[in-house]
Amino acid sequence: MRIISDLHLCEGLGMCEAMADQYFEVGDDGQVHVLDDRPRDHDRQLVDAAVKSCPVSALRLGS
Ligand code: SF4
Repeated sequence: MRIISDLHLCEGLGMCEAMADQYFEVGDDGQVHVLDDRPRDHDRQLVDAAVKSCPVSALRLGS
């Protein structure tokens, strides 16, 4: 599983960071930075929820 972000869509709203700040951080540039794009299996549910929380669908999970 890999986290993929689309910075053209991200509006820096920070829902992903609020849910899983070990994986997502909104930078001074107002865009999401994926801190670790290969989440451990035991974090899958957490990361999945954070990805789904993005109101502009800027995050997705790939293989
Ligand atoms: S929730 Fe979406 S729009 Fe907000 S910082 Fe994360 S990726 Fe960007």
